[in-house]
Amino acid sequence: MLSIQNLEVVYDDVVLALRGVSLDIPDGKIVALLGANGAGKSTVLRSLSGLLDVHDGEIRKGAVTLDGTDVGRHKPSALAGLGIKHVLEGRRIFKEMTVEENLRIGAHANRKDIAGNLARVYELFPKLLERRAQTAGYLSGGEQQMLAIGRALMSAPRYLLLDEPSLGLAPLIVAQIRDIIVEINAQGTGILLVEQNASMALSIADHGYVMETGRVVMDRPAKELLADEDVREFYLGLGGEGRSSFRDVKHYKRRKRWAS
Ligand code: ATP
Repeated sequence: MLSIQNLEVVYDDVVLALRGVSLDIPDGKIVALLGANGAGKSTVLRSLSGLLDVHDGEIRKGAVTLDGTDVGRHKPSALAGLGIKHVLEGRRIFKEMTVEENLRIGAHANRKDIAGNLARVYELFPKLLERRAQTAGYLSGGEQQMLAIGRALMSAPRYLLLDEPSLGLAPLIVAQIRDIIVEINAQGTGILLVEQNASMALSIADHGYVMETGRVVMDRPAKELLADEDVREFYLGLGGEGRSSFRDVKHYKRRKRWAS
C-alpha cells in the first residue's frame, strides 16, 4: 500500500501547503482526491512521486510510505522504479515527437517487456495505434491526455497518480477517459485520481478524500461521499446557493442553525 501519514509540506520555506495530511492508496483500488483550487491536491501527488524538490517544496513532518518503508525523500526516478507514476496536469507530452516515440520514452522506468506494454497501451487506446507515426502536437486535447496516460502505463506501474485528467475535455471524451481509468484499474493498477469533476471521480472510486486549505476534511467510501448532502451541494453542483467553498457550506449551515 502507498500511504502518507501526517504530512506537512512547505514551499519556499514559508507556504504551508499540507498541514498534516494522511491518505491511503490500497493496491488495486481507485481513490478520489477532491477539493477546490489551492486545497493541496497537486502537492499530495508531488509528495508521492518525488516532485516537491522541483517546485522548491519540502516535507517538514510526517512520512510517505510504500509497504511500510519511508520513501518520502526518494527521487522521482527511484519512485518510478518502485512503480509510482504521476501523470501531471496539463498533458505534458513531447509535442514535436511522434506518438510512439512519446510512448517509448515512458518505458525508461521499466525496460522489461517494452513490446508487451506498448501492445497493452495500443489495446487500451486504439486511437493512439492509428496515430502512432503522427506528431503528438497535432493530436486533439483528449488524445493528448490519452497519450500522457499511455506513456505512464509503459512502465506497467503499480500505482498511477492522475492530476485532473478530464480538465477542459468535452463530456464524451471525459466518459472515455473514465472508462479507461476503470479498465486500467481492472488490470491491477491502484489509482489516485485528483479531479474537479467530482461526480466522475466518485462514480468510479472505492474511497474518497476531500481537502480544504491543506487538510483532509472528509475521508469516506466514495458511495457515502456521493450521497453526502454537503458534497452534493458544493462539489456536484446539486442545489446550493452560490457559496464559494466547502467550508462556506458548513459555516452557512452553522449560521442557519443559530438563526433558527
Ligand atoms: P489546483 O487545482 O489549483 O492545482 P491544488 O489543490 O492542486 O489546486 P496545490 O497546487 O497543491 O493545490 O497548492 C496548495 C497550496 O500550495 C496553494 O496555496 C498554492 O498556492 C501553494 N503552492 C503550490 N505550488 C507552489 C509552489 N511551487 N510554490 C509556492 N507555493 C505553491
